[in-house]
Amino acid sequence: MINDLLRSIPAMEELLSTPGALEFSALLGREEVKIILAEVLNKIRQEVWDGMNLTQPISEIAAKRAEQLLRKKAARTLKSVVNATGVVIHTNLGRSPLAPEAIRAVHAVAGTYSSLEYDPETGARSERNNHVEGLICRITGAEAALAVNNNAAGVLLALSSLAAGREIIVSSGELVEIGGSFRIPDILAFSGAKMIAVGCTNSTRLEDYRRAISPNTAALLKVHPSNYRVEGFTASTTREDLADLADSRGLVLMEDLGSGLLCPLNLPFAKREHSVRDCLQGGSRIVTFSGDKLLGGPQVGVIAGSKDLIDRMRKHQLLRAFRVDKMTLAAFRATLLMYLTGKAGEIPTLKMLERDKKTLRKKAQYLCRLLRNVPAKASDCDFSVVETQDLVGGGAFPTDLLEGFGVRIRSLSLSPERLAGALRTASLPVLPEVRNGQVILHVRTLLEGDEKRIALSFEEIWENFQEPAIL
Ligand SMILES: *Cc1c(COP(=O)(O)O)cnc(C)c1O
Repeated sequence: MINDLLRSIPAMEELLSTPGALEFSALLGREEVKIILAEVLNKIRQEVWDGMNLTQPISEIAAKRAEQLLRKKAARTLKSVVNATGVVIHTNLGRSPLAPEAIRAVHAVAGTYSSLEYDPETGARSERNNHVEGLICRITGAEAALAVNNNAAGVLLALSSLAAGREIIVSSGELVEIGGSFRIPDILAFSGAKMIAVGCTNSTRLEDYRRAISPNTAALLKVHPSNYRVEGFTASTTREDLADLADSRGLVLMEDLGSGLLCPLNLPFAKREHSVRDCLQGGSRIVTFSGDKLLGGPQVGVIAGSKDLIDRMRKHQLLRAFRVDKMTLAAFRATLLMYLTGKAGEIPTLKMLERDKKTLRKKAQYLCRLLRNVPAKASDCDFSVVETQDLVGGGAFPTDLLEGFGVRIRSLSLSPERLAGALRTASLPVLPEVRNGQVILHVRTLLEGDEKRIALSFEEIWENFQEPAIL
């Protein structure tokens, strides 16, 4: 009996040649698929030995389990997902989706040689940074600018170049941690600068900075508090006052702005957010910011400011380690050009942030209709349009909520966690918000065509759930 059962376990080659396995091979590689299938077959073999009651033909069980496990593994690979969380700049989901212009620019240089560090006129070597420096300067009013791998790299390079072996004065209220891996005190220590923290968490005055200045001071550092806010009794020093103090003592005022706001955002609470231009005009001599936060471009960091200081950074060894790839430069350049041609509003991140309630309600109604029409035998779901609270994300405006809309899903047979899990691991993964036992798809963060992709994922989920789970 056992021997018969064991014989009916399909052979590896048989499983490998199913259409499902072939599809996953393209995604995971044949070797990886083989390892996963071996795991499935071993488990079934063990179950047969243990005398487990198998209710279906073994070949069917094997095929189903293989498919489930392969799907689970495939869901973990780097792939496109639908962001229905309502968090626009979502670091775990790759922050800013690129504009079509930027994607075309990447496409144009990715598969060929390019003029990355080449001056066609002289035939001589040139600097890759030239492709974006002029644009950054025109948009921000900076004298000079450098693009590096990300803002963390920008801060590290700027600090190392300006203040290694010397002191940097920073407010205790600005010793922030961003995203768990970027801590201002740690970066400062790493740069070789000595941190002099002044003032208190909620209050730092100009006098605190003045008193801390010594012959060994190189710079004053101002850090955007980004992802947190101190409420109640607070006092900080204005950029202008800090700039005057720095100038009068021959020091550099450097600012880590975090999100690189380049032009005014059409959001009520964004008025108090300073743009890069504001910071430079206000007297900061070096400003660092990210390319993939409020700017809406690829992952880069920018150091913008005074030419003499930037020129020093150009010669720094770290720049070689932080240099930016051709595809990123192409995407960044195309994104910057959108600012200069009046097309900033079409940059996906900005567009999503500025979507008004009427548009969002319509989008939610459309998604709701599509979902209700998903043909499904197990359709035990109830869909309704609900108001949502969306977030800017990326550490910007942590306490300000954006009013939005979404579709709430209730299922009789699937718990919210199970439904969300199924959405997340579908072949077109959909990331919803699960809060207070409800699954909500926020529409603010949906890109073109995402509504249809969500409907497809639903279809797939119901197909998989029609047979009771056989794990
Ligand atoms: C986001 C942020 C950083 C880190 O930027 P990355 O581009 O993620 O490296 C540094 N400083 C501030 C203030 C930030 O908001």
